[in-house]
Amino acid sequence: MEQKLYFKDYNEALKQNKLLGLKCRACGTITIPPKMACRQCGSPDMQVTEVKTDGKIVTFTTIFVGAEGRENEVPYTVVIVELEEGPWLMGNLEGIDPKAASIELIGKKVKMSTKVFPGDKYSPGETASPVFSLVN
Ligand SMILES: [Zn+2]
Repeated sequence: MEQKLYFKDYNEALKQNKLLGLKCRACGTITIPPKMACRQCGSPDMQVTEVKTDGKIVTFTTIFVGAEGRENEVPYTVVIVELEEGPWLMGNLEGIDPKAASIELIGKKVKMSTKVFPGDKYSPGETASPVFSLVN
């Protein structure tokens, strides 16, 4: 058993706006971020696949208290998005007023892009994170 996608590669791809996942050969489920086994059936037999970044908002929360060193980033809204191909992904929602975020966001279509954050005391170095914006 071999893990074919390491977090480092996943992160490097994200920096180039590419979302990589692991597609299970047994059941077809896509697992993101990379794990040792399929999130659905537990099979380790998965292949690396590029995942489409369109999806819809499943739920959201707005953060008003920033982590140490990140106080100037609040408020911001975090969403969980169900991508077209099934996997769920969490990221910041951009282009809206976080103070006005409401239940109406749920079910809205979004598109993913990525943002590179500099390293801080919580991470070993530069990391890329998914960010989402609404599409009409
Ligand atoms: Zn599976």
